[in-house]
Amino acid sequence: MTAGQCIFCRIAAGDIPAKIVAHDDDAVAFRDIDPKAPTHILVIPRRHIASARKLEPADAALAGRLLLMATSIAASEGIADSGYRLVVNTGAEGGQSVDHLHVHLLGGRVMRWPPG
Ligand code: AMP
Repeated sequence: MTAGQCIFCRIAAGDIPAKIVAHDDDAVAFRDIDPKAPTHILVIPRRHIASARKLEPADAALAGRLLLMATSIAASEGIADSGYRLVVNTGAEGGQSVDHLHVHLLGGRVMRWPPG
């Protein structure tokens, strides 16, 4: 898939509407279209990276910024104290359905473990 066909690239570019909750030069966060928890937000890099598997050492700062954006949003969503879950589904058996790296921020309810 090219970046031009990627739905999350198109959201980051503003070509497809989404409920954006945060953004900076490198990352965008928006509400999941099919939420699995009262708070369900996706944090993505603007640059097309197909999955966590494709991260390289040079992406270390970017990967950290995705996590920091997620934790910042958790605070602004009011779920930092109660707790939340950050998930990066990776590959077919990992449950990844969109081939653009994304961090799920899930909260607002009790999470179970292990996940299905
Ligand atoms: P994953 O299964 O880990 O790849 O997660 C992909 C997520 O993207 C799912 O939770 C979908 O509900 C979500 N999703 C797919 N298309 C959109 C969209 N256009 N806007 C917001 N979220 C989306």
